This record gives sequence, C-alpha cells and structure tokens, in this order.
Amino acid sequence: MGVTRAKIEANLSRIRDNVADACARSGRDPEGIGLVAVTKAVDFDAVKLLLDAGVTSLGENRVQQLVERADAMEDHLARRRNELPAPVAWHMVGHLQRNKVRHVLDVPRLAMIHSVDSLRLAEEISSRAGRAGQTVRVLMEVNCSQEEQKHGVAVGAATHLAEMIAGFESLRLCGLMTMAPLVDDPENARASFARLRELFEEMQAEKIGGDDFRVLSMGMSQDYPVAVEEGATLLRIGTALFE
Ligand SMILES: *Cc1c(COP(=O)(O)O)cnc(C)c1O
Repeated sequence: MGVTRAKIEANLSRIRDNVADACARSGRDPEGIGLVAVTKAVDFDAVKLLLDAGVTSLGENRVQQLVERADAMEDHLARRRNELPAPVAWHMVGHLQRNKVRHVLDVPRLAMIHSVDSLRLAEEISSRAGRAGQTVRVLMEVNCSQEEQKHGVAVGAATHLAEMIAGFESLRLCGLMTMAPLVDDPENARASFARLRELFEEMQAEKIGGDDFRVLSMGMSQDYPVAVEEGATLLRIGTALFE
C-alpha cells in the first residue's frame, strides 16, 4: 500500500511536535531548524505528496536516483506551475564519488551537497563548477563516531580540510554534516552530535567559511530529537515521514 497525504501530514506534525519539545528542553527556537525529506526509499508519487504537504527540501543519497528524480520533478513542476508556491530544492546527502560529480552538478535546483569529505572530491566539484560558471554550496562530512565508518573526514583532520574547502573559488562551505552510528538507543548518538557541534563552533570562531558557515546537518529518523538538543540546524529525515 502506498503512503497517503494524510499519513505524511500526520507524520510531519508529529516530527514538528518532537522538534518543538526538543527545542523547549534545550532553549532553542524551532524556527532555526530545517528539514530535508530523504526520499530514497519511496516512489515518486510519495515525493509529489510531500510537495502537497508543503515540504520542498528533498534529499537523495544516490546520484542516479537524484538525477532521475530531479528530472521527473521538472516535468511535474512544469505541469503544476501555478499551484506550488515554495521553491523545490534538492540535497545530495549520500557518499559521492568523483566520477559522478558532473551528474550532480547538472541537477536542476541543486541546493547543497552534504557529503564532501576529501580534498580530491572538493577539487573535482570546484573545478567542474568553475568551468560551468556555477557556485556550489557544500557541507563537509565528519566521521564523529568512534567506530569504523566508511565516510567522513576524521575529527582530527577536519579543521584543516575545512580551511582548504572554504578556499575553493567555486565552493561555498556552509557547514558540517555527520551520520551518527546506527544504535538502538538514540542517546548513544549524542556524543557524535556534540562532537560535531564543538567542531562547528571552533571553526566559526576561526571564521572558516565566513557568513555562509551556518549549517549543522545531523539527525535522522532514529535520533533527530537528540540532534536538535545538540544544536542541529538541518535534519535529514526519511523513514519517520513515511511509516
Ligand atoms: C537515508 C538517509 C537519511 C534518512 O534516514 P532515515 O533513517 O530514513 O530517516 C539521512 N541521511 C542520509 C545520508 C541517508 O542516507
């Protein structure tokens, strides 16, 4: 059975309630927290329902699906030009290989790449973007968990890499992203989020990225209330929107 608009709206209001509660616990303003709907596990009909429910920041974690969806979205928007008020924007949230960068840069309404974690990847994005006359907003992905994880720069190397990324002509370093380890108890994700926030504040104090450097992308379906308590400004939520 496909997901319905009513289901999505009920889930959205539950997520907003949980975010508001987490904000109340931590003295934050819910206005400062955005949501990227990660649509990797649902079909395009569900993506359209998200738009109907007012969600316009969409995320995918694989290049091919991102490209296909963004194209399908252009057709959809062309048909519904006068009905959809807010602008749609796409976020690439998953690991990105250098040989796929050019496809991502072709995506219409690309908002941000969340997963820049090496100098070579940053170089590739910047040089291709430069040639195309584009400026690309990126986040640097940091591996904040103790356990082995494939992606993200190590905490100890993060500041140096952030300085380099911020220096590229055609990139705007807008902040940091982390994936917490998959754990049964969301409390176990807290240390990773706190670590990312510390790094973020250190970098802000050093003026890395300048005024653009404002985004802390952390928190998924399992752990977003904890991420909010620890300072997240952008949540990436999939499952909790659709189930
Ligand atoms: C799938 C995914 C999410 C969302 O995960 P859920 O547990 O479905 O909320 C967030 N970030 C990234 C990078 C993902 O791949």
